[in-house]
Amino acid sequence: MSDELFPQSSTTMGWDDDKIGRDLPVYDGPKEPGKKERIYIISPIEKRVIHYKQGLGYFVCNGGLCCKLMDEPATHRLGCVIFKYETDASGNLPTDGDGKVVVRGEVKVLIMTAKMYRRFADANKTAEQETDGAQTLKTVDVILHCDNKSDVEYKRWTINLARRAAYWLEWAAKVKKDGSDEDKARLTDQKLEMSENFKKIPAKLGNEKSDEEIAAAFGQSHGDTPPPVGDPTDALKDL
Ligand SMILES: [Zn+2]
Repeated sequence: MSDELFPQSSTTMGWDDDKIGRDLPVYDGPKEPGKKERIYIISPIEKRVIHYKQGLGYFVCNGGLCCKLMDEPATHRLGCVIFKYETDASGNLPTDGDGKVVVRGEVKVLIMTAKMYRRFADANKTAEQETDGAQTLKTVDVILHCDNKSDVEYKRWTINLARRAAYWLEWAAKVKKDGSDEDKARLTDQKLEMSENFKKIPAKLGNEKSDEEIAAAFGQSHGDTPPPVGDPTDALKDL
């Protein structure tokens, strides 16, 4: 991932301060069976080992009391910043009068379960093997396909890597080189939104809860902290 395209710093001239900190919309994926959408994963993928409990929501596993009290073992939630393209129902980008592809769309946040992440990882591996490393999630767009109604409900998509470079990446490189002022401002806006929202992803994946809060959610008073049950990072090895 090029640092230039994903700045961690938010110091940019001419930026409207009011816009910084805007929460990007969460990406929902294709909502109708048969529909395809095209995205590009821009940021690194953040991971948190979490539990979910009503009343606490998604909270970070500390390998101790939570694992003792929860029926389900800790699992992962992952998140990243993406560019969602404006496309037709087949995932094709619009073209201008000269037949040139127009890159339009929105920066969004993608939150994934470990299962969904596995689908991305598998698609990445397949493409990488078939193209001798030329095509990966970093170099090409991703096509998400909704197969049937239950996919919509569970945000379960079929994932394929587009057999072409990442349009957003190409657009950004072109704009930087000799883009119009309007496009340059658009790119600056998008990059700032990305870096600001990237920092917020861990909190979106799960919040830190104290043992007191965890115990209270289970209707218990918190006594001595029991010894850790397993290593919460063990589950990461399966990804
Ligand atoms: Zn735990």
